[in-house]
Amino acid sequence: MTFACRFPRSQHLVGVVAVITVACNSGGTGGSPYISTDSGFDAGLRSGFWLKGDLHAHSLHSTDALDSPVGDVFAKAEELGFDYFSLTDHDNHVQGNITTWADPAYRSDKMILLYGVEWTSGRGHANIFGTKPYDYAPLWATHDAGDGATAIAAAHAQGLSFFINHPASKDLWECGFDLDFDGMEVWNALFAFVTSNSVAMTQWESILMSGRRMTARGGSDSHHQKDLESMFFNIGNPTTWVYAREKTAAAVLEGLEAGHVSIAYAPGAERLDFTADTDLDGRFETMIGDNVLGRDGKMIRFKIDIAHPRAGTTYRVAVLKNGAPFDNWESQDTTLTFEDTPAAASRSHYRVELRGPTPEAPPVSAGAFGDLIGLTNPIYVSFP
Ligand SMILES: [Zn+2]
Ligand SMILES: [Zn+2]
Repeated sequence: MTFACRFPRSQHLVGVVAVITVACNSGGTGGSPYISTDSGFDAGLRSGFWLKGDLHAHSLHSTDALDSPVGDVFAKAEELGFDYFSLTDHDNHVQGNITTWADPAYRSDKMILLYGVEWTSGRGHANIFGTKPYDYAPLWATHDAGDGATAIAAAHAQGLSFFINHPASKDLWECGFDLDFDGMEVWNALFAFVTSNSVAMTQWESILMSGRRMTARGGSDSHHQKDLESMFFNIGNPTTWVYAREKTAAAVLEGLEAGHVSIAYAPGAERLDFTADTDLDGRFETMIGDNVLGRDGKMIRFKIDIAHPRAGTTYRVAVLKNGAPFDNWESQDTTLTFEDTPAAASRSHYRVELRGPTPEAPPVSAGAFGDLIGLTNPIYVSFP
């Protein structure tokens, strides 16, 4: 395979094309039509919405968050412009008798609400989400033994989504990575300060390399609205963007499980978008989380868009292919394209990371945020 980037780094790039091979065959695709409704490209291909929110947060229904009434957290979430939200209080702090959902303040006229709990076992933590309150007893029954496999089966039996949390933190995930969970938290709180995030990213890539599609999501794990912690970060750090076909809780969970997910360091930050034109018809019909079939060994054109950009910002954009650095640019441009021909008769996956200034971070903790603005889930090629 030959590689020739037409433009050097640090050059202002418009529609940069990094030509990897020139095998220009057209053919079928398993990708789905796609539209991004808030940035205007490829209108008409797929209708839906990028929705932002936080999938990991605590309130006074957790005994380590007693200074955070539900109403305060919800007011903050609405102030930040969240489209969806879920509290995920610790199950063991209420002995499995989930009290969060019955709190009169667990309501919103502005946000889509999910119903979450943090399965807080001695062998790992996980957030379990539903579109409405659910029977937690079967989940609680697995808590003491830290039986992840049975917990996941119990969640799925009720149609719930099971996402493991901070898998490499001090409360690490010890139940195994070959279990049937629906996704994992790779970005917990501040990316650079919680060094386990980089380990979680490595674990995620290992799963992807094994040939399993796996949604990566963020979660602030915010516990406090009033004390010191809230000066350093709050809900929305990071923010998880989910592409949903409609503005409902079911569509949010559907988009989440499908991997239509982009993560950003803050609610007001840039959102990375990543699409592909797999049949070279000029329409970028494939989006993050899609699995392209029948295009291995054939050229695919990819496009990176930075939604909600900041004027005058120089961004560092990196593409990772199969877990390894593939290409990168330093540019003020907000749209970049490149091409590649994934190897024939094998699977490939591509994802994007965006680095640069993080002015939405509180100055007191900007260093702990690091320079990671956002990251995408992969576009998959020829995965099972
Ligand atoms: Zn936890
Ligand atoms: Zn937590």
